[in-house]
Amino acid sequence: MQQKDILIEKFKELFGAAPDCVAFAPGRVNLIGEHTDYNGGHVFPCALPQGTLCAARARSDRTLRFFSLNVPRFGVARTMLDALVPGCGKGWQKYAEGVVWAFRVSGLAMERGADLMFFSDLPAGAGLSSSAALEVSAGLALKTLFGLGLTGPELALLCQKAENSYVGMNCGVMDQFTSAMGREGCALFLDTASLEYEYAPFDRPDVGLVIVNSRVKHSLAASAYNERRRQCEQALADIRSAFETDALCRLTPEQWERYGGAVRDPVCRKRAKHAVYENARTAAALRALKAGDAAAFGRLMNESHVSLRDDYEVSCPELDLLAELAWDTPGVLGARMTGGGFGGSMVALVETAAREDFIRRVGEGYKERTGLEAGFCSAVPAGGARLV
Ligand code: ADP
Ligand code: MG
Repeated sequence: MQQKDILIEKFKELFGAAPDCVAFAPGRVNLIGEHTDYNGGHVFPCALPQGTLCAARARSDRTLRFFSLNVPRFGVARTMLDALVPGCGKGWQKYAEGVVWAFRVSGLAMERGADLMFFSDLPAGAGLSSSAALEVSAGLALKTLFGLGLTGPELALLCQKAENSYVGMNCGVMDQFTSAMGREGCALFLDTASLEYEYAPFDRPDVGLVIVNSRVKHSLAASAYNERRRQCEQALADIRSAFETDALCRLTPEQWERYGGAVRDPVCRKRAKHAVYENARTAAALRALKAGDAAAFGRLMNESHVSLRDDYEVSCPELDLLAELAWDTPGVLGARMTGGGFGGSMVALVETAAREDFIRRVGEGYKERTGLEAGFCSAVPAGGARLV
């Protein structure tokens, strides 16, 4: 049976009737432009074929019920429309509750409750944005149930608001935007300040993306993320005493070299340097892709990893090992950690002919040094959220 059919059967069994709709929202992999999305910069992700299904049915009362086939042991989570308080959400269902809360506080007419059931083939916490896939699938399902007029970018912003304010994770808009707006065969070049975007074809037969799951998730991820944000805010405030700008990523590398000395704290200075140069690399990567220069694209990925490791300090020994193993493998054009860091996944740009050898070498080397079994999957850029 297909995932969707299993979901519909379970929905009927648990909630007593068939769902009114089933929505799908993909995970994403970011190719380059990491930790730029809350610094007014560009990101360059693509949506994945893997993602989250949400089956949903409107209710006549004000009750909300949530169930996930990925964590059935947690049972049915139940709450009321009027009981949602930001910062107080508990358990996995806070991501879905947050979307309902964000819809309602933004004035969308949602006066009845709903039953929502999820089923995902994304590994949670692997840096592929299972949280955004859950939010966007819930958002698209609710939009459909209640006939709400929302564009893809508006849906993405509401889901980001859910994660920022309700869940308490201060993420940028990249994950939700990619999940809502991804396009098959394309990477999505997004200006996170203006939300202007363009699609860049990413479908060459001779090279492809491989995602390598490190299978580690370090517990400091959330607090370190919020700390990086504070350090960037401090750096921006210091820079503004020397140069007028509204975001770190608005600075060119030349302007940074001139005015970066205004950032007093050396740690904050390293963080800001990463943001400025990473943003410049992201624009260079778009040019390389358009010029068909996969080798240049790969070199930019490598530089991105080094900067995330040394200046932004969000890598970890396992991700560094994966990157080094990849860099040492023939046929690898580039490799870097992807996502917020402190675990999660690496993404590599690999010649198609070298793919099998890459998986074997990196898998064996990683196992030998860490005892861990890395997970490998090909990343074929896929479409954004849709009803199925
Ligand atoms: P990432 O988004 O990189 O996968 P996060 O830590 O942001 O990692 O989000 C992972 C969390 O999202 C999980 O711990 C879980 O609470 C929730 N989650 C995501 N997908 C599901 C799902 N299908 N069912 C239940 N919870 C989910
Ligand atoms: Mg997430």
